[in-house]
Parts: sequence; structure tokens; C-alpha cells
Amino acid sequence: MRYTERVRKFIIENFTEDNIILGVIMKNLYDVIVVGAGAAGLTAAATALKYNKRVAIFDLGSTPARKVRASGGGNCNITNDAVKYDKYHGKNQNFVRGALSRFTPDDVKHWASQHKLKLIQKTPGRYFCDNGADAVVAALMNDVRGADIFLNQHIDNITKQDNLFHLGKCVGRTVVIATGGISFPTLGVSDAGYKIAKSFGHKIVPLRPALGPLVITDWDAKLAGITVDAEIKIEKSVVRDSLLFTHSGIGGPAAYRASLYDIGNGITIDLAPNTDVFEQLKNAKQQNGKKSVSGILGEIIPDRLAKYAVQNDTRHIADIKDADLREIAKRVNEIRIPGNKIRHHGMSAAEVVRGGVDTDQISSKTMESKLCPGLFLAGEILDIAGDLGGFNLHWAWASGFVAGINAAAVAQEF
Ligand SMILES: Cc1cc2nc3c(=O)[nH]c(=O)nc-3n(C[C@H](O)[C@H](O)[C@H](O)COP(=O)(O)OP(=O)(O)OC[C@H]3O[C@@H](n4cnc5c(N)ncnc54)[C@H](O)[C@@H]3O)c2cc1C
Repeated sequence: MRYTERVRKFIIENFTEDNIILGVIMKNLYDVIVVGAGAAGLTAAATALKYNKRVAIFDLGSTPARKVRASGGGNCNITNDAVKYDKYHGKNQNFVRGALSRFTPDDVKHWASQHKLKLIQKTPGRYFCDNGADAVVAALMNDVRGADIFLNQHIDNITKQDNLFHLGKCVGRTVVIATGGISFPTLGVSDAGYKIAKSFGHKIVPLRPALGPLVITDWDAKLAGITVDAEIKIEKSVVRDSLLFTHSGIGGPAAYRASLYDIGNGITIDLAPNTDVFEQLKNAKQQNGKKSVSGILGEIIPDRLAKYAVQNDTRHIADIKDADLREIAKRVNEIRIPGNKIRHHGMSAAEVVRGGVDTDQISSKTMESKLCPGLFLAGEILDIAGDLGGFNLHWAWASGFVAGINAAAVAQEF
């Protein structure tokens, strides 16, 4: 007798009609279904597996964790010793406290050492994976070996009936939505996660690009390529880091970090944050009157910038009135860009998204929806965006870990 006939005979002999349906359902019944095989989703899945739960993972892409693979310039800036709630932005910054206290930078380092990943600090406290981001993805995939993984599956609808979540042909006792943000669309993103959250009654804080370059109207492209240590003031906040002049505005870490804030009221850039340039020019006028003003400035900032700041004024510094020196100094210490002249570059170059699922409706202790028991959310899909430096991946690991533990606990109660 052929194998399929033997199976058919076995089913007819052993199952009633109801049992056949039950059997089919059981085959596709999972304790935890994770949507999104990124940093948060894989961590949630790995954690639930540790509690011996039956786990399925769905992802729209043909490969998992593509943003992890692209992160940190290929070296994955995996965590940061400075992880703390004040490194995060969102409507409710305090929301992150619970997850961060349960999954710390030391936990990330411990996980990395278990997987023989060598972490290096490119700047103090900021950890990159020396083996490369691919090795981090391999370690994550190793941790989810017991799960059923369905790739190339774009999930755009989840329903809940009789306490069970229905997702395509699968049924879950719990679901973790970890579909990330919509920035960097070339890596394959989708807004369906937000739509699914909305379908369960969740509010979405408006999305906008963050950790990306800024476009400035009437910008002088001649400055493109210059890098300088700069301070950017955005209302009452200040970021200080390396700033890169681009063809259309500013980029580099300082601009990326400034883009996390609301730039609607403009920004003020200081290209020499350690120096009172006016004082320096006045001193030079008394001591080195025969020097050109651009020559003096060139000792503080790169030559090309100095020439730009003096607007090709070739006079000796002794011949320049203090009021004019003050204007020149302002073009270094206090470049004001009004809100109507500056905007985000767009989602295409942004590393993360600001906005997302409103955290007011999520438990910060468990990552479970307050509106729909059994539904968990983790990672960037939530209205949380971290500073540059490994804080976003850390949030993904920490929130994924908490969601995984609690989804496993809820599934256990069935
Ligand atoms: C170029 C770049 C470099 C970065 N570098 C760093 C860094 O060095 N350090 C750092 O901390 N952060 C970095 N980040 C940010 C960090 O990568 C993200 O914040 C983090 O990956 C978010 O994790 P996540 O699991 O929430 O989402 P993701 O990692 O984006 O994973 C979401 C997953 O869900 C899947 N998905 C989405 N919608 C659906 C759907 N409807 N159905 C099925 N699957 C779906 C996606 O395919 C994706 O695999 C970087 C980001 C970018 C773009």
C-alpha cells in the first residue's frame, strides 16, 4: 500500500470528523506566534523557546534580521554601557525603564560571549561585534532553532476568536508583533504591523524619520565633505558630536542625533563649541593685527569653513570693526537655521522611526497590550526611538526578551 493511502486509512480508522479538524488545528497551533524576524522578534522567540513553548516566526523577507545585518556599518553596534531611560525618545520616555532593568548591557555581553562573539569598544562603552553583523544574525538564528520559521510571508491581518489568534493557517495562544519601523525601505519594511495594532484598537503616534541627515534650504554645497566636531541646539536640548556637511545640508552623528528631536522651531549650530570665537578674534586683532581674519579662523576650524565664514574677506584683522568680527564669529558659534529652512531627509536614509504604537496602551512590565490580552508588541514598532550608539538594538533585545517571557507565561495558563 502506498504511503499516502496508509495515512488516509489511519485517519479514517482513528479520527472522527471533529477529531480530524482538531488534529489539523493542533498541527498549526502555537503557544507564541512572532511576526517579524528582526532583533526584537527573534529575541522574543528565543526567550519563549527557553520556556519550552511551541513557537512560529513569520517574516515578509527571504532572509531574517536584515536591519541587524546592516547595522553599525556591518559591525552591529549591539549595546552601550550608557543604556538608561534618558537615552530614549517617545511620548512616554519612562516606558522603557522596566524592560531596561530586566535586560542590561551585561546581559547582552553575556549572550555575546555564550555565542563566542567578540565585542569591541570603538569608543568607550559602545560595543560592536568584531566578528561582523552576520555573526550576530547567525547567533540569533541559532537561538531560534526550535521554532517553525516562515519566510516570505507578509502578514497583514490577525484576528482573535475564542481567545486564540488566527494568522493565515496558524493559530496562536499569544502573538508578538515585532515588525519594526518603516525607515530604510530598501531593506524591506512594511506598515502592516501598525495597521494590525490599530485593528486591535491601538493608537499610533505619528511616524517620522529619525537618526538621519537633515536637509537645509539654500545650503552651500561647496562645504560638502567637511567634518567638524559641533554642537547642535534644538530648543532646550543639545547634542555634541561629529558633523558632516553634505550637498543638501548636514549629516554625520551630530545631525543624526539632532534629527531625533522636533526640529520644527529650527536649530542652532556651533562649529567650535570649545571656543568663544569673538573673544579669540578680538585678541588676535590686538596681538596679530597683520594676519587675515580667515587665517586666524583657520586655526580654529577647517580652512574651507573659515573662508566660508569670513565670506572671502581678505582684510587684515586689525582693519575689521568689532561689530563685523562679531558677525563673523556668529557664523561659527551660532549658525541659526530657522524651522522653515530645515527638514528631515526622509525615511530612505533614516536609521529609525520616531512615533509608533502608543505606549500608553501597552504594559511596560510585560509588553502586553492593555486592550487585547495575549497580544504583545516589542522593538521599534513601539513609540520608542533610542539615541545613536547601540541604544536601538538594545531596546529591541530588552523589549523582545520581556515580551517573550510574558507571552510564554500567558500561553502556559491555557
Ligand atoms: C542602516 C541601519 C543601521 C543601524 N545600525 C544600528 C546600530 O548599529 N545599533 C543600533 O542599536 N541600531 C541600529 N539601527 C537600528 C536598529 O537596526 C533597529 O532599531 C532594530 O533593528 C529594530 O529591531 P526590530 O526587531 O524592532 O525591527 P526590525 O529589525 O526592523 O525587524 C522587523 C522585522 O519584521 C519584518 N516585518 C515587517 N512587517 C512585516 C509583516 N507585515 N509581516 C511579516 N514580517 C514583517 C521585517 O521584514 C523585519 O525582518 C540601524 C538601522 C539601520 C537602518
